[in-house]
Amino acid sequence: MADLYETLGVSRDANADEIKRAYRKLARELHPDINPDPQVQERFKEVTAAYDVLSDPQKRQQYDMGGNPFGGAGGFNGGFGFSDIMDAFFGQGGQQRGPRTRARAGQDALIRVEVSLEEACFGIEREITVESAVRCEKCSGSGCQAGTSPTTCGICKGRGETQQVTRSILGQVMTSRPCAACQGFGTVISTPCRECHGDGRVRARQTINVKIPGGVETGNRIQLAGRGEVGPGGGPAGDLYVEIIQTEHEYLVRDGDDLHLALSIPFSAATLGSKTKVMTLDGEQDVEIKAGTHSGTKISLKQHGMTRLRGSGRGDLIVHIEVLTPTKLNREQEDLIKKFAELRGEDGNSAKVKADDGSLLDKIRGAFRF
Ligand SMILES: [Zn+2]
Ligand SMILES: [Zn+2]
Repeated sequence: MADLYETLGVSRDANADEIKRAYRKLARELHPDINPDPQVQERFKEVTAAYDVLSDPQKRQQYDMGGNPFGGAGGFNGGFGFSDIMDAFFGQGGQQRGPRTRARAGQDALIRVEVSLEEACFGIEREITVESAVRCEKCSGSGCQAGTSPTTCGICKGRGETQQVTRSILGQVMTSRPCAACQGFGTVISTPCRECHGDGRVRARQTINVKIPGGVETGNRIQLAGRGEVGPGGGPAGDLYVEIIQTEHEYLVRDGDDLHLALSIPFSAATLGSKTKVMTLDGEQDVEIKAGTHSGTKISLKQHGMTRLRGSGRGDLIVHIEVLTPTKLNREQEDLIKKFAELRGEDGNSAKVKADDGSLLDKIRGAFRF
């Protein structure tokens, strides 16, 4: 399957407006009425399918995360009826007869917000600034200059649609389509509002407080109903989606609800046992190193992982131990190690291949999923 973003010719972080614009432009070139060539129609289907996914925040998220957004009805093979295409152009109302209302539902909007690992764990309230379409105050969304109102369209006489006779292999077919002069509204705004040029909305910056709950991870989206773009003609606003991007921590590595940390300890501490401290998201915590600890040992600090977004409690912080073999020995240290080896009866020939008791495989399987 071709990349949907490439199909539409937009970048991966294109906003709803850019996606819509790109689709409209392509649809104008590829529409069956304009170019009935089968190959062009194949391309039109692909473009429409891509638009169907990328214009829907939920489907788009699913696609971004590698899922198949074409499950269920109306996928690639389902074909696209005329009403689907009209829906894509004009919102609802492809099949509906008569003039359409000017007020249309607004687009959903998407904004990405970066949070640190700590913020993702404990949650945070963020003030975000979004540039979006808001209702034009001058005309209250009507699009008309103060004191004026829309006039009946002279082409369709207010019906909002025009009829056309086309010849097909089945004979003459009468088709009606939205009136091009008034875009199917049945009325035209002859004196548009100077502020919004008849659209009923203007672009403005808004500051919004968002509560980001503890446990979120990259790709999660928080839906703020009615905080998206206001629709044209005073239509209701779409939703605003806040997508989380969690930045990497300096040394804590996240795996779902668990965190991982690599801790190097000197050979002597590993041999004799010791107590050390590590900095966790909850401040310093004691880690007890048992005498005779090997490299690859994992020590779990329960409930010091991430907050569970769903469910209760927290994951664990898993400390992966690495034992450091001493290097750069001075004369005295070297003598001591030699003496130590002598007392242990160890020499170069003491190394032997050991039958695996399962621990090596465990180590490989359980190795940090970094
Ligand atoms: Zn008209
Ligand atoms: Zn206005």
